[in-house]
Amino acid sequence: MSHYESFDETRKVDVVVVGSGVSGSAAAMTAARSGSTVALLEKSESIGGSAALSAGMFWTAPTVEAYRARIPLGNVELGTHVVGDYQDALAELRKSGLRVADEPKRDIMTFGIGYSTDIQGVLAWCREEVLTAGGQVHTNAPVIELLYDGGSVTGVVTREDGDGLVRYEAAAVVLATGGFQGAPDELTRHIGPNADRLMLRSNPGSVGDGLRLARSAGAGGTKAMSTFYGHLVPYPIYRFQPEDYLPYSQYYSGSTVLVNLVGERFTDETEGDELLNQALTFQPQARGVLIFDEHVRSTEATEEPFPGLGANDRFATAVQAGGTYAVADTLPELLDQVAAWGIDRQALGRTLEAYTHAVDGGGGVACGIKVSSKARAPEQGPFYALMVQPSITFTFGGVRTNTEGEALGPDGRPIPGLYAAGADIGGLSNYGYAGGLAPGYITGRWAGRSASQHAASAGRSNRAPSLINSGTK
Ligand SMILES: Cc1cc2nc3c(=O)[nH]c(=O)nc-3n(C[C@H](O)[C@H](O)[C@H](O)COP(=O)(O)OP(=O)(O)OC[C@H]3O[C@@H](n4cnc5c(N)ncnc54)[C@H](O)[C@@H]3O)c2cc1C
Repeated sequence: MSHYESFDETRKVDVVVVGSGVSGSAAAMTAARSGSTVALLEKSESIGGSAALSAGMFWTAPTVEAYRARIPLGNVELGTHVVGDYQDALAELRKSGLRVADEPKRDIMTFGIGYSTDIQGVLAWCREEVLTAGGQVHTNAPVIELLYDGGSVTGVVTREDGDGLVRYEAAAVVLATGGFQGAPDELTRHIGPNADRLMLRSNPGSVGDGLRLARSAGAGGTKAMSTFYGHLVPYPIYRFQPEDYLPYSQYYSGSTVLVNLVGERFTDETEGDELLNQALTFQPQARGVLIFDEHVRSTEATEEPFPGLGANDRFATAVQAGGTYAVADTLPELLDQVAAWGIDRQALGRTLEAYTHAVDGGGGVACGIKVSSKARAPEQGPFYALMVQPSITFTFGGVRTNTEGEALGPDGRPIPGLYAAGADIGGLSNYGYAGGLAPGYITGRWAGRSASQHAASAGRSNRAPSLINSGTK
């Protein structure tokens, strides 16, 4: 049952939710509104996880067809249900009175549709709903063990405020710990040798606890373990703190020419920054150079990629951040400067020449790499080069889960009492990215609803007032 022999305290609830990001918050609110007593447990000192650091764009694929086309390696069942539930989730946010944009933003990450939201408001609202329903919300409460009797999950163990060992007895546990991007050993195991070069663009608490806890009860993992979401950021950088995550992201890289440290292109740039970010991870030293012209700098590199992010000259910001850069009036002069960074000048020249030739011909293949018919060659000086590196915001692989939010064993059978949501679920995104906030909120609702139903049917409803109030935030 537990590795620990004694506890400072034991608390009984219907549903425990592990992690207070967007998925855990939605799960806890849904379970609490369904009549369950809920404990929402967060390891860090404040709620919100990566959701609290995010841009607040609530988006996903516009249709199942678009999901399939952009994410052919994704779990179609999960994708179909996320797309199907999107409007209802959006309506729930609107009904709450929180700010949700009237007009959608289209072509997010080249294909998605979404609405700008007050994500901090969403997190605070979920928390209030849990407390109003008589639930508990604890910060500084890392879950360190899942209680499992060999047949069902029976609760969790936390070490609260760095000290007291607390056992929660619960009929259902929802894992919503945000993925394993903060665990270098897991990243290396799944992504390979360059994984330790990925800059962590995430809350620091998402270190794979959900996956580890799920495995301890026999849950299976998914495909997509080596794929992830993140954005290219300048190389090097003096610091990389949460306030830098948005301004340092090179969202416009899809309009540049991206070469590796041997001066070669390696992917179709128009696929978009979040895919280039993954592709660069597997290149020498996981470093590359964006090459672009004044047209790109004055448009996409400066404009607001999402409403709410604000306009920002991303090249100037990258230079200020410490990024290696070059500026020149002509392309040959620019390539001379880039060659001084140790990149083969002849290879660079060949790459740019072949790329421009392919673009002039309406797209095709240059030096073996696709050139899209949408690609544009750098032509209007001044010309710019910026050295970049990949980052990781969250991992796409995780706990095998169905559309009820139930965690599944390797045989596909639900593990009684165990649920997962958000970035702890694996396979919804796989190389292609289906969004984080909306899928997190939607899958959190699935898990919260199912966990509450399971707790009710297990006949263990603890609707009595919360057993503790002290320390409840
Ligand atoms: C800079 C930035 C911008 C982004 N912008 C957008 C955007 O505009 N739109 C979008 O769709 N997505 C965006 N994302 C991604 C989005 O934030 C995530 O996909 C989403 O927050 C994932 O939700 P989650 O609930 O699974 O995890 P999180 O929101 O990361 O929450 C996980 C929580 O679990 C806690 N936790 C971990 N382990 C334990 C444990 N053992 N016990 C207790 N608690 C634990 C963590 O501390 C954390 O608080 C952005 C992310 C970042 C970093």
